[in-house]
Amino acid sequence: PFLGHPDYVRLEDHTRRKSVHVTAEAEDEAIAVGVEGLIGNTPLIKLKSLSDATGCEILVKCEYLNGAGNSPKDRVALSMINHAEAEGLLVPDRGDTIYEGTVGSTGISLAAVCRARGYKAYICMPNDQATEKSDLLLKLGAIVERIRPASIVDQDQFVNLARRRAQEHTDDESKPGRGFFADQFENTANYLAHYSTTGPEIYTQAHGHLDVLVAGAGTGGTISGVALALKPLLPNMRVVLADPQGSGLFNRIKYGVMFSSTEAEGTRRRHQVDSIVEGIGINRLTRNFEAGMHLIDDAVKVSDGQAMMMARWLVEKEGLFVGASSAVNCVAAATVAKQMVREGERGARVVTVLCDSGTRHLSKFWKAAGDVSGMDVEFTLDDILDAKK
Ligand code: PMP
Repeated sequence: PFLGHPDYVRLEDHTRRKSVHVTAEAEDEAIAVGVEGLIGNTPLIKLKSLSDATGCEILVKCEYLNGAGNSPKDRVALSMINHAEAEGLLVPDRGDTIYEGTVGSTGISLAAVCRARGYKAYICMPNDQATEKSDLLLKLGAIVERIRPASIVDQDQFVNLARRRAQEHTDDESKPGRGFFADQFENTANYLAHYSTTGPEIYTQAHGHLDVLVAGAGTGGTISGVALALKPLLPNMRVVLADPQGSGLFNRIKYGVMFSSTEAEGTRRRHQVDSIVEGIGINRLTRNFEAGMHLIDDAVKVSDGQAMMMARWLVEKEGLFVGASSAVNCVAAATVAKQMVREGERGARVVTVLCDSGTRHLSKFWKAAGDVSGMDVEFTLDDILDAKK
C-alpha cells in the first residue's frame, strides 16, 4: 500500500540519497551535497553478544550515525522542513524561523538542518534539563528559551510556548519572514520520514528477512513509520513497543488503558515519565503514535536498572557506547528473543534501533550507570532480564 505514497522512495533508490541540491555531475558520482547528505542510509548491524546470549539474531539500526544532529531526528527535521516547504509554509532565506518545543534530539537536528536550509531555529525547553543540551543548541546557532517546567495543559509549557512564539513571529510585521511551529508530536511528517526512509532501508538491508520490530516511543514517529512501512511487506512480522518505567504506553498497548497507575497523582505528574531514560516514554497519545498504534502487537516494560545494566553490557561486549533509549530497546529486544526461543522459534530475527550516543547522556543516565572502566561486566543477560527494578 505504501508503494503509491508520494513520500515513499522506491526501494531501489535507497542505495543513494537524492538531494534537491545535487548537481548532475555529483549525482553521477554519488556525491551528496552538504549536511543533508549525512542523513539516512545508516548501517544495520548484528549484535553478536546479544544474539549468542539469546539464541535469536539481534540486529540494530545505527541511527546515531545520522550525521547532522546524530539521531533519528535528523530524518524528522528534514522531513518536517520538506513538507512545510512543499506547502509553502517555509521559504528559504526569507528570514523564516522554525519554532519547536523539545528537550533534546529534535532541537539539535532542527538547529543543524535549519542552518543548512536557510532558516533560524528557536527552541523552547524546560529549565530543568541538562545544560549540555542547551549549550549544544547555542553552539549550533539556535535561539534557546528555557522556561520553568509545566504541565502540557499550562499555556507556558514548552511545547505550547513554541507554538505561541511562532504565531507571535508571524503576527509581528517588524520581524522578517514567518514563524513556523514544527510540532514533532502531532506533525505527521515525522512518522512519514520513517515510513519513507528508515523502514524501507531496514527492509532492503535485511533482504526482507525480519520477524520482530522492537522500538520505543517518544513521539511515536519511529515505531509508527517503520511498522507502517514493513507490515504490508511482512504481514507475519510482530511489532513490540519498548517502554521505560513510568510511561503510560505499556498499559495502553497491553490493557487498552492509559493512566491506570498515575491518574490519581494529578495532571502535572500524569504527563511526566518517572525515569532517568530521556527521549522515550509518554503519558498521552500523540498523532504520530496513533498513526501506527493498531500495528503494535505487544509491549515490554523496561526498568531504569535494566537499561543501565544493558548499557554497560553493550560497552563491555560490543564496544558500543549508547544512550538510554537505545539500551531500553536492547533490553526489550533481548526479552522478546528469549520468549521466542522458549516458544520454539530459535534463530528468529529481531530488529531494533540505537538512537543516540552515550555522550549525550553523560550527566544523567551514564552518571547513574557508572564507569565501565577497570571492571568486568559481572552479570549475565538473565541477570539483566530478571532485574525488574
Ligand atoms: N531516543 C531518543 C534519544 C529520542 O530523543 C527519541 C525521540 N524523542 C526517541 C528515542 C524516540 O523516537 P520517536 O520520537 O520517533 O518515538
